[in-house]
Amino acid sequence: MAEQKTIFKRIIDREIPANIIYEDDLSLAFHDVAPQAPVHVLVIPKQGITSMATLADTDHALLGHLMLVIKRVAAELKLEQGYRVVTNIGQDGGQSVPHLHFHILGGRQLKWPPG
Ligand code: AMP
Repeated sequence: MAEQKTIFKRIIDREIPANIIYEDDLSLAFHDVAPQAPVHVLVIPKQGITSMATLADTDHALLGHLMLVIKRVAAELKLEQGYRVVTNIGQDGGQSVPHLHFHILGGRQLKWPPG
């Protein structure tokens, strides 16, 4: 039986809609459907990587690319006052979608430490 697609893979494949604000050959950025801050965007690789914990040593260029996409998207969203980048990993990390993603959160003063 074919493995079930994650919700993010379905967004990549345009099977379900998302408010996409950036796309290139390797990545996609779209607004989170349940925003936790005035700006809450997700940056994901198109490649099906479960989380940071399953990255391969050969993924370093992809990771660097994603970091630069985050920087670019944050600049486009005018988060000059600052923002936070978060990736949740596995159960204790609070990860709910098993496809690597980076949250960009901004537009308000964020608290520390997170819960
Ligand atoms: P995490 O809990 O770190 O795995 O983050 C998953 C995020 O995906 C959550 O912030 C959800 O609100 C978000 N999310 C789930 N489904 C969708 C969707 N269809 N479109 C946009 N964001 C989504």
